[in-house]
Amino acid sequence: MYNSTYSPSPERYSSSSRLYVRCGKSGVLLPKVSLGFWHNFGSVDPYERSRAITHYAFDHGITHFDFANNYGPEPGSAEETFGRLMDDDFKPFRDELFISTKAGYTMWQGPYGDWGSRKYLMSSLDQSLRRMHLDYVDLFYSHRFDPLTPVEETLQTLVDIVKQGKALYVGISNWPLEPLRFAETYLKEHDVPLLIYQGRLNMLDRKQIDDGILDFCADKGIGYIAFSPLAQGLLTDRYIDGIPADSRMAKEHFLTSDRRTPQLLDYLKQLQSEAKAENRSIAQHALAWILEQRGVTSVLVGASSVQQLKNNLEVVR
Ligand code: NDP
Repeated sequence: MYNSTYSPSPERYSSSSRLYVRCGKSGVLLPKVSLGFWHNFGSVDPYERSRAITHYAFDHGITHFDFANNYGPEPGSAEETFGRLMDDDFKPFRDELFISTKAGYTMWQGPYGDWGSRKYLMSSLDQSLRRMHLDYVDLFYSHRFDPLTPVEETLQTLVDIVKQGKALYVGISNWPLEPLRFAETYLKEHDVPLLIYQGRLNMLDRKQIDDGILDFCADKGIGYIAFSPLAQGLLTDRYIDGIPADSRMAKEHFLTSDRRTPQLLDYLKQLQSEAKAENRSIAQHALAWILEQRGVTSVLVGASSVQQLKNNLEVVR
């Protein structure tokens, strides 16, 4: 299907004024809609479909792609898919892309393949760079807070990763507010300001607002990017009439069928009528709600088809 050299749309930045927003008080502009590679880009997924979604994203100004070491399945294979995409299509456009990866969850066996030690984070990032065929990532995250490793060790590793040129910026994901406060101060004092926080935020899960994470980020000039903004597909029309065979709920253990409750279906009906009044899909309505929250920089969507991504991107048109 894609035998010729990729030639991205010359129109890809034509809606720049609507799409890009400053990430906190940094020099970085991020698209309001970013693309996540947690699902649909692994070794189990058809490469040409992953490739078509990635092309569509870049062709429409989505410059930020988000990874973690363990995305797949198999763990690591989403980064490998991207390495292949770099070779096939994206090498000439490296400087137009903002690529993030993370380490913090289980990646390999033994005591050094998990959590927040210097040993794990350093070797994991080296592995990620090899898989993605990159010299550096734009953003490296601590994927979760490690209560057993001294927090200074994790944070100093982030500082050193930037000083070694392996990442341009650092981020924090899923940390509670108190260690996040410490991280913000530590990183600032070590001349590597915290660029962004990545957390789960959607209409069904507002804990990060209640916990004060968004206000903290806004007050400190840290960007905020919302993951699972569609609650893995629950906040779309995907599950209204049942559980489609090709859906995440049918295929993956991350989204179980007990989430499809009568209450959810009632809520979806309400959202559907609110969305209709605004001439939007449920997904667009759900994304717009996040983008209106104080402190939010970007929504990090997943997509299993070009059509889904197209639909989601309409939120900023
Ligand atoms: P979403 O909430 O956007 O869910 C994506 C899924 O929703 C798709 O795979 C698809 O499901 C469905 N979907 C998307 N758009 C539509 C649409 N327009 N109409 C109908 N269905 C739609 O995000 P994810 O949960 O995938 O997370 C996004 C990204 O966030 C990840 O890729 C990752 O980068 C990041 N993330 C970070 C985490 C962290 O700990 N830091 C944790 C989780 C995610 P289907 O496949 O069934 O078609």
